[in-house]
Amino acid sequence: MPINTNTSLFPVLYSDILDSVQAVDPINYGLTRNYIDGAVSYLSPYISRGVISTKFVLSKVLDRGYNVREIEKFIQELAWRDYWQQIWIEKGDTINSDLKHAQLPVSNTLIPKAVFEAKTGINAIDNAIKEFYKTGYLHNHLRMYIASITCNVAGSHWKYPAHWMYYHLLDADWASNALSWQWVAGANANKKYVANQENINKYCSSEQQNTFLDIAYEDFSSLTTPNVLKETVQLGLKTSLPIANSIFIDNNLPTCIYNFYNLDPLWKKDELVNKVLLLEPSVFSEYPISQKTINFMLSLAQENIPNIQIYIGEFNNLVSTYNLSKEIIYKEHPLNKNYKGIQEPREWMFQVKGYYPSFFAFWKKCKKELLF
Ligand SMILES: Cc1cc2nc3c(=O)[nH]c(=O)nc-3n(C[C@H](O)[C@H](O)[C@H](O)COP(=O)(O)OP(=O)(O)OC[C@H]3O[C@@H](n4cnc5c(N)ncnc54)[C@H](O)[C@@H]3O)c2cc1C
Repeated sequence: MPINTNTSLFPVLYSDILDSVQAVDPINYGLTRNYIDGAVSYLSPYISRGVISTKFVLSKVLDRGYNVREIEKFIQELAWRDYWQQIWIEKGDTINSDLKHAQLPVSNTLIPKAVFEAKTGINAIDNAIKEFYKTGYLHNHLRMYIASITCNVAGSHWKYPAHWMYYHLLDADWASNALSWQWVAGANANKKYVANQENINKYCSSEQQNTFLDIAYEDFSSLTTPNVLKETVQLGLKTSLPIANSIFIDNNLPTCIYNFYNLDPLWKKDELVNKVLLLEPSVFSEYPISQKTINFMLSLAQENIPNIQIYIGEFNNLVSTYNLSKEIIYKEHPLNKNYKGIQEPREWMFQVKGYYPSFFAFWKKCKKELLF
């Protein structure tokens, strides 16, 4: 039975997802994307789950007749996603540690209790965290504000709070997540990102004053951690995978492996293959996700990929238990390093590959492929 998710903000039927792609307003996006009620696309849960690619989104938007120049901001933001993915591919697990510089200063390796409980006293942030627990989504600017007060005001090391956010995000993507947290904390950038109350009021339509962030930018260097952010908390972030059931494998057919990062309904759509959604406990133990995110993933798979079967266990166990003797096919991804079989490439917007120390060096090369 398909699992019902209540997320009207994030429908799971492929036809509805295509409607969301058609609804993108890339021109208004460029003008308003920094405002929390701006014309953002809400496509990240589908891109991160591998239902659609950045290339697919770009081609659908360009099909509507836009000139690349007028929608450059939108293309550039999509490119950020590919940029972080390329770093993950190139750097592997080293993205789990401070990438360019040690984050300094660090006073703790947990998360402020007030952030976790949505009680920082900054109304726009607290309201957003409460909503986040309900929807599994946060606007980009709010992610930056939250990371900034956590790392740069409360002095938490970025990694533990990044896992908290990843846990609750429907668009959980470890590259975008870990590397953005590091970017905010100055571990993957040459300076830290900070925002004051005036900035928050502007982009969140709030009018709050007299908070610990109600200061001028030059005063951030002498800002000490306010009492409200001092208490930290350890969270029991655990994944409850569904109960394992046995599956049926036709050993005369190849087996295609889907996973948390590949739920592409068009992949092998009309081919006679075994389709297995592989949920490896080792992956979810290292990168835990919430029940809401599990339900979202299962619904996307069950609603859009006919005959998909769910296997809970490690890749090697799948192969040995079902004696898989025909081809095993999967899409390239940094978390698939242990798979063995035929690896197919993912779709990218541009040919540019590899590690670029700055997004703008990467983007400069990408832009050459666009017909300006
Ligand atoms: C601390 C922090 C943590 C983040 N964690 C994640 C994460 O786990 N998963 C995730 O997908 N994104 C993450 N992001 C990036 C970004 O916030 C989201 O991709 C974006 O807010 C998703 O909303 P949207 O689809 O409405 O984006 P839109 O603004 O409509 O952008 C369109 C698409 O472009 C891509 N994109 C836009 N901005 C960024 C960005 N800054 N970095 C990477 N890709 C971008 C996304 O694929 C997005 O769907 C994080 C950012 C920060 C600052």
